[in-house]
Amino acid sequence: MDAATNASTANGPGRGPLVDPFQRAITYLRVSVTDRCDFRCVYCMAENMSFLPKRDLLTLEELDRLCSAFVTRGVKKLRLTGGEPLVRRDIMVLFRALSRHLKTGALDELTLTTNGSQLPRFAGELAECGVKRINISLDTLDPAKFRDITRWGELDKVLAGVDAAQAAGLHVKINAVALKGVNEDEIPALMEWAHGRGMDLSLIEVMPLGNIEPARIDQYLPLSMVRARLASRYTLQEIDYRTGGPARYVRVAETGGRLGFITPLTHNFCEGCNRVRVTCTGTLYMCLGQDDAADLRAPLRASEADDLLHGAIEEAIARKPKGHDFIIDRRTNRPAVGRHMSVTGG
Ligand code: SAM
Repeated sequence: MDAATNASTANGPGRGPLVDPFQRAITYLRVSVTDRCDFRCVYCMAENMSFLPKRDLLTLEELDRLCSAFVTRGVKKLRLTGGEPLVRRDIMVLFRALSRHLKTGALDELTLTTNGSQLPRFAGELAECGVKRINISLDTLDPAKFRDITRWGELDKVLAGVDAAQAAGLHVKINAVALKGVNEDEIPALMEWAHGRGMDLSLIEVMPLGNIEPARIDQYLPLSMVRARLASRYTLQEIDYRTGGPARYVRVAETGGRLGFITPLTHNFCEGCNRVRVTCTGTLYMCLGQDDAADLRAPLRASEADDLLHGAIEEAIARKPKGHDFIIDRRTNRPAVGRHMSVTGG
């Protein structure tokens, strides 16, 4: 019996928890609410991206219905991302609506990943909506390098966003993509800055997603190398701390802070995968690094009841692949999948 049939028959259609063919329970949904962003990070997007026409996007009400359907199926953690989630018009309407699932206890965590630029406007309201922890992406503290990496971004605005988030009482984790020859020498300084402000830092290996101008091999810095270098300077203590994501954490004795490593290349973590991703057009990707997808927009729009939607979700989860197989080397100069991270939602 496959996982979908199992879920339906055990609990009635549309009511069972979502378990994939490898017995992994799907408890984490990441939703890209827009493919647009106010930055153009060199490893994420090409400079001249074409964006989706507005009519293709799910409305905020549809996004709410979709997320809520997953919550009734056992999703406990919901992350809004993008593109830049805070540039989607009226995005707080969605946060407010989704926060009802925190109040009922159906959802454990409502959160977002953001570049931070809009946080001075929204941090307070996010906290009011029950958001407790957020991820802010920041790869460097050098303004010129920041401009080079993001093409359009201003470091000051992001730092003001970090201040606003902390002032609003949000726990901030900084996510930095480790980039060869760009921020590799700065990682200790970034870590000491984050830990000095009471923030965790997670380092991420660049993934071969979408066509970009630079060659991936010129960006890719294996975290095994970064970790070895840090270990020669700091005491890295293994700890069990987990946040429901793929990061493996150590405590840095000298700073007292936590440092996470997200290693899709050097250490594949798919065996514990608990997540799926939905794009702003309602396309469900069961794996960040595979092409297979399911359209949830058509069943969502075909009926006001959610039966068709639940059926489509079950079918999709029943074919969630075992994992990704990213390769970055001189011979493999093509992305694992054609879509950029900004489309699937990072
Ligand atoms: N705009 C938001 C932000 O900056 O956090 C959310 C979306 S962004 C796509 C999410 C995360 O994906 C960011 O931390 C970004 O650095 C990361 N990212 C984008 N492209 C990536 C790639 N090819 N490999 C690894 N991480 C990537």
